[in-house]
Amino acid sequence: NADISSSRSTRDWQAADAAHFLHPFTDFQSLARKGARIITRGENVYLWDSDGHRIFDAMSGLWCVNVGYGQQALIDAAARQMQQLPFYNAFFQTATPPAIQLAELLAEVTPPQFQHVFFSGSGSEGNDTVVRMVRRYWDLLGQPERQVIVSRKNAYHGSTMAGASLGGMAAMHAQGGLPIPGIVHIEQPHWYQVGREMTPEAFGVHAAGWLEEKLLELGPEKVAAFIGEPVQGAGGVIVPPDSYWPEIQRICDKYGVLLVSDEVICGFGRTGHWFGCERFGSRPDLMTFAKGVTSGYVPLGGVMVGERIAKVLIEQGGEFEHGYTYSGHPVACVVGVENIRLIQQLKLVERVRDETGPRLAKLYASLRDHPLVGHAETCGLMGAIQLVKDKSDGTLFPSELEVGMVCRGHCFGNGLIMRAVGDRMIVAPPLVTTAEQIDELGRLIAMCLDKTW
Ligand code: PLP
Repeated sequence: NADISSSRSTRDWQAADAAHFLHPFTDFQSLARKGARIITRGENVYLWDSDGHRIFDAMSGLWCVNVGYGQQALIDAAARQMQQLPFYNAFFQTATPPAIQLAELLAEVTPPQFQHVFFSGSGSEGNDTVVRMVRRYWDLLGQPERQVIVSRKNAYHGSTMAGASLGGMAAMHAQGGLPIPGIVHIEQPHWYQVGREMTPEAFGVHAAGWLEEKLLELGPEKVAAFIGEPVQGAGGVIVPPDSYWPEIQRICDKYGVLLVSDEVICGFGRTGHWFGCERFGSRPDLMTFAKGVTSGYVPLGGVMVGERIAKVLIEQGGEFEHGYTYSGHPVACVVGVENIRLIQQLKLVERVRDETGPRLAKLYASLRDHPLVGHAETCGLMGAIQLVKDKSDGTLFPSELEVGMVCRGHCFGNGLIMRAVGDRMIVAPPLVTTAEQIDELGRLIAMCLDKTW
């Protein structure tokens, strides 16, 4: 097993990368100028690059490596399954034991209304499935006019045509003819940006009211579902006030609109609860997941389908004309099973809820004193720092200064991966991060803020 990463020099990798590899969400030309950072190894919460630098990965890869790097149980399970049966599909009335086992385990760890799962290969594909499934559900119930799905601005639900349309990223909508028809967006519950003249609690109810306004404008009988991330992750870790989701739930119930929780980031312990909907007190009809289900070791996603919907699809639906080659991929599914067992064995959800989450919250409370920090908030093991020019009134920096990117540069140079979303600096460290490592993270963040200031 030759180690390919050390077989060539950094420069050599970078040249080949720039010559052939079009990276996602990247200005292609920038890599030809600067060269990508080549990541070669991971252990626990740390990565190493091809020049041997150690980096604290405070983004868990892309919000996914929740059990940290190098977990032998996951590696062994994948290798065993590859040897025994690397692939078989779930089409045409066949199934593999790993897919069945994961379906069973998911029914156990998700809220009780979920007893059925539809597997996909990613979160984006899961959300595509949601679009088709909710519309099919209403068709079967004789309400085919219920087509519209309401989502939120600055939401992220993936990069496929339907996923990016559900998402509310203006930059994505500006390319490739998005959004597709039948998807509308309301404002996000961003207290710090738009709600500061109210208490967070009052603002949460007010922001949920934008859904009711939209339903009344469209005619609720035309609306199939509302979708939202419990905490908007890629949009900048925007933690809603506690009053927001119960009010959204009340409005969905009142108008018979299905509630979809996109748990691709918040699922599997990120918020200190198994699922974000449990943290915020909603009872979704459907739940999209990906990332944390396998801790990113192999790609896997899916949709948990609430009994209200599953019953109709099973008893009245006939064939559901939808599915992916990798729906229920056996290697992905054994890794999913081992990953969930590991989360249970290590009590990671409880650890985030009782120990590391509160420690991160305390750390972020102390960061609020920094001259660059207008606001700092956390939810479980997710955190956001709002950089400001003037903390007395929260004045933001002009966007062309790209202060977030400057800060990110200091992080990268000092062995920390922290992401910049505009001028919000965000983290989502692995759930295995210890209390001592939270303190280490705190020191690194403070140093990078100082260098940016
Ligand atoms: N939904 C949310 C909330 C996400 O954060 C993401 C990815 O970041 C997706 C969906 C899309 O998942 P994937 O990249 O696996 O398609």
